[in-house]
Amino acid sequence: MVAVTTVGVLALQGDFREHVEVLGRLGVEAREVRQSGDVEGLDGLIIPGGESTTIGRLAVTYGLVAPIRRLIAAGHPVWGTCAGLIFLARDIGGYDQPLLGALNVVVERNAFGRQVDSFEIDLPVPALADVSPPDEAQRPFRAVFIRAPVVKAVGPGVDVLARLPDGTVVAVRQDHILGTAFHPELTDDTRFHRYFLRMVQARKGERRAHGGP
Ligand code: GLN
Repeated sequence: MVAVTTVGVLALQGDFREHVEVLGRLGVEAREVRQSGDVEGLDGLIIPGGESTTIGRLAVTYGLVAPIRRLIAAGHPVWGTCAGLIFLARDIGGYDQPLLGALNVVVERNAFGRQVDSFEIDLPVPALADVSPPDEAQRPFRAVFIRAPVVKAVGPGVDVLARLPDGTVVAVRQDHILGTAFHPELTDDTRFHRYFLRMVQARKGERRAHGGP
C-alpha cells in the first residue's frame, strides 16, 4: 500500500538525506524536491531541518514557494521538522525571511539560545500510540533538538502533539500539516515518519473515495 505513494523531501539545504533514508527503510522511495516540476504529483512533502533563512531564500530562487503552497492548499500532507516548521509558520516574530505561512502558529527561532544549543529528551506523544505496537503505546519519543525553535502560540485548528516538561509546545498538527521542533529523522525511532505516512495514505484514500485522481 505504502509503495505506491510519492513523498517528496525538500532537498535545498539541511538534513534531507536523513529523511529520504528513513522513508527508504519504511519502503517509500522519496523524491528529492529541488525545482518546481518536482512538486507535481506528490502525495506529501517533508521539509527538513537546516537553516530556515537559507531554505526559504533558495525556495524563492527556485520558484518553489507557489507550487508548495498549492500542494498544501490542495490538502496534501506536509511535515516540517525544525527549520521546516519555521518555514511553514504563519508568524516568526521579527525575522525577515520567506515563509509559507500555512501553519497557524507563532514560532520563535533559536528559542533555547546558545547555552543550550542542542539536547535530547524523552517526550510523551500520545498521538503516536496509533503507530506503536500495543505494548509500546505509551513509549515516549526521544526528541533531538538542535538550535531548535519552539511554538509560542497556536491559533484555531491547531492541535498540540507534544510539550516539553515546562509546557512549551514542540509538536503540532493542523489538519494535514504537521510540525515538529525536533528531528525524528536523526533517531532510529520511525514512529513520526509512520505517523506522517498514515496522514498521506488517509488523504489518498479520501481522494479515491471522492473520485479524485
Ligand atoms: N536554527 C535553525 C533556524 O532557525 C533551525 C535549526 C534546525 O533546523 N536544526 O533556521
